[in-house]
Amino acid sequence: MLQVAINGYGTIGKRVADAVRQQPDMEVLGVAKTRPNFEAETAIEKGFALYAAVEEREELFAEAGLEIAGPVEDLVADADVVVDATPSGIGAQNKELYEEYDTPALYQGGEDADLTDVSFNARSNFEDAVDADHVRVVSCNTTGLSRVIAPLREAYGVEKVRATLVRRGGDPGQTSRGPINDILPNPVTIPSHHGPDVETIFTDLDIDTLGMKVPATLMHMHSLNVTLEEEVDAADVRELFADESRLFLIPERMDIDGSGKLKEYALDAGRPRGDIWENCIWEESVSTVGRDCYLFQGIHQESDVVPENVDAVRAVTGAADAEESIETTNETLGIGF
Ligand code: NAD
Repeated sequence: MLQVAINGYGTIGKRVADAVRQQPDMEVLGVAKTRPNFEAETAIEKGFALYAAVEEREELFAEAGLEIAGPVEDLVADADVVVDATPSGIGAQNKELYEEYDTPALYQGGEDADLTDVSFNARSNFEDAVDADHVRVVSCNTTGLSRVIAPLREAYGVEKVRATLVRRGGDPGQTSRGPINDILPNPVTIPSHHGPDVETIFTDLDIDTLGMKVPATLMHMHSLNVTLEEEVDAADVRELFADESRLFLIPERMDIDGSGKLKEYALDAGRPRGDIWENCIWEESVSTVGRDCYLFQGIHQESDVVPENVDAVRAVTGAADAEESIETTNETLGIGF
């Protein structure tokens, strides 16, 4: 059994902890938190061993009646892999700790690409992370783009990708984020940083991205134009996507017109937290004009990276190959509507 530590138990960390717990070959050794908030309380209720991420704050947990198993150093020392799901930039500060105990570490997309040798997306470059010590699981948007680009490259070749990312202002729990009533070019400079991030997965890819932020919390929406190296029928592209386990082609008959109904569907389907681990591509949006392929996809920012973290645990430990890992993760989480 692989012993997995989760450092940072917020939006991503708590989901990764639940997903790891469902794996037949992994156990959650413990989770580390900085403060005794509602998530710390739930971690204890779920039976996760809770470690103090910051020594000076340990007593706050005792005051809140929450039992601490030890300092984060103990957790890192005993783990086979640590998943760092702390806020952007904190992962970089934690790298030294993981190196000190010689524990392989996974970081999240908020960290700079040059923090690690490998940026990871299971569908696209699982092998690059095999036996690596420091791996960055790319952001929600980069994960969403990579999952579409990988099969298109393999099937037809990709000349150029142009994507406009309509980004949610904040996650539902991020009450200080915005905009509340605006549409922001964000970043206002073009191209946005997302394209170079996708190039950490596909180093020879030509991609330009543009970003906006809108008053929404549920999901991101991508408008994609991929210029292929050959002319292809839209029906063939749809068939290609239908074979991809982490792409959900929304059928027209479902009458899902946006991210609100998508989330409603996920909740009705009994998904934990209403999570949608798959890219959600509107099937009838998949169109071709000559060599240009177009589509709209919704990306659930809080959860699409979760299966990727699980697969990255297997990659860095050499526990399984890409196909086996993705299959196990998909099956245990229930990926695929
Ligand atoms: P979050 O704020 O929801 O959770 C971070 C958790 O880490 C919080 O519980 C916080 O208290 C804790 N923390 C803060 N400092 C810490 C420290 N020194 N040690 C241990 N824990 C500490 O953040 P998040 O949304 O889960 O994001 C985590 C990472 O995942 C970031 O790199 C982010 O860019 C990336 N990411 C976020 C999303 C998203 O939409 N939320 C999607 C993909 C990737």
